Amino acid sequence: MDSSKGRPVEGTGARARAAALDAADPLAGFVDRFLPMGAAGPAGDLAAGHGAPVVAYLDGNSLGRPPREVAERMQDLITATWGSRLIRGWTDEWMTWPETVGDLVGGSVLGAAPGQTVVADSTTVMLYKLARAAVAARPGRHEIVLDTDNFPTDRYVLEGIAQERSLRLRWVETDPAEGIRPEQVAGAVGPDTALVVFSHVAYRSGWLADAEAITRIAHDAGALMLWDLCHSAGSVPVELDRWSVDLAVGCTYKYLNGGPGAPAFGYVAERLQGELQQPIWGWMGRRDPFEMGPGYRPAEGIRSVVSGTPPIMGMLPVRVGVELVAEAGIEAIRAKSVALTQFAIEIVDGWPNELGVEVASPRDPARRGSHVTLRRADFREVNEALWERGVIPDFREPDGIRIGLSPLSTTFAEVEQALAIMREVLESRPVATDSSSARAGAAGP
Ligand SMILES: *Cc1c(COP(=O)(O)O)cnc(C)c1O
Repeated sequence: MDSSKGRPVEGTGARARAAALDAADPLAGFVDRFLPMGAAGPAGDLAAGHGAPVVAYLDGNSLGRPPREVAERMQDLITATWGSRLIRGWTDEWMTWPETVGDLVGGSVLGAAPGQTVVADSTTVMLYKLARAAVAARPGRHEIVLDTDNFPTDRYVLEGIAQERSLRLRWVETDPAEGIRPEQVAGAVGPDTALVVFSHVAYRSGWLADAEAITRIAHDAGALMLWDLCHSAGSVPVELDRWSVDLAVGCTYKYLNGGPGAPAFGYVAERLQGELQQPIWGWMGRRDPFEMGPGYRPAEGIRSVVSGTPPIMGMLPVRVGVELVAEAGIEAIRAKSVALTQFAIEIVDGWPNELGVEVASPRDPARRGSHVTLRRADFREVNEALWERGVIPDFREPDGIRIGLSPLSTTFAEVEQALAIMREVLESRPVATDSSSARAGAAGP
């Protein structure tokens, strides 16, 4: 899988190769399992120039596309279940959805045996609950180890917990184009480390951390390990049980296609469930919620992670999305993900140096998730221009465009078309001369 720099993949060559890759893609049939991409957004978006028909959707790592089946099953939930079962829906089935949908997520994409995963809250809230439970379970230790390039919400939540509990944060400096490495973690943990928190796939670079090795290092220091799997779940194989991970959280609206604001998942290894106590004591996590008695007594097992009423409307699309991923199989998804990111990198590598575009993601596919970040100083404006032409990646500070390649819904033809349009946009714009990120020689004399 080495980079094929110099291979002629531009223009018609790239187009033919995309067609061949799509024709040979065993997951090609899944593209039609998603609703077609709309022609135009609402009027407000049109005014902003964002109403162009979508040519290529390259942001499934931020918000996955809706599976067709969601529309039908939502309709059914609303009319047949909510509409006719009414309050009885809770006792019929909804009450246990946090655990049953949790087990579906755990078994399909997390490598987790039943009884260790729930679906509830947002990732931010779930992260707070599990991280706060973890530090309380290591009372003699005063440090949380994290990295400078973790997703903002992760950093803020941990800053808040550190302040609340008078703990110290030990920051590992990560290269924004790469990510957290085992040797950096080994140098940061010690007898005072209570908890170690990293993202498995870095939101900016797409770096895929060696979760098994890093978890072992955290454990050797006596610390608990919490992984954020937002960019992993549904795109790369995850083996929480086999890696002996303690805690994990993640989104369901990215590669699991659960829809905007879909609830998060949380994983607590069975061996820790009696020891850890999450801090938001609500009636739905109590031993018998309908006893409504005085005092909080946590439910047995993973149910104790639940706080309030489960978001049933938000969970149904999660079910559908995870079932789709399970049907395709995570190994096949990973293989296509690697091929998609490799194809994108090959095309960009074939661009002339004068375009000044730098690949800010790992070149080794074994260390790369399912998105590729490109850099150039004017990419904020370039991203706007792409959106106006129906090519939808996203911009990430300070100068990155992320090309998110969601294996079930993205075609190779889409990647080729998007990058051909991006190249046109770039060729129409002079390279900014103040770019510290542009390749040497690309910024002029
Ligand atoms: C997307 C993402 C989140 C989002 O958290 P929300 O509570 O859903 O807003 C958190 N962490 C990481 C690493 C993410 O990529």
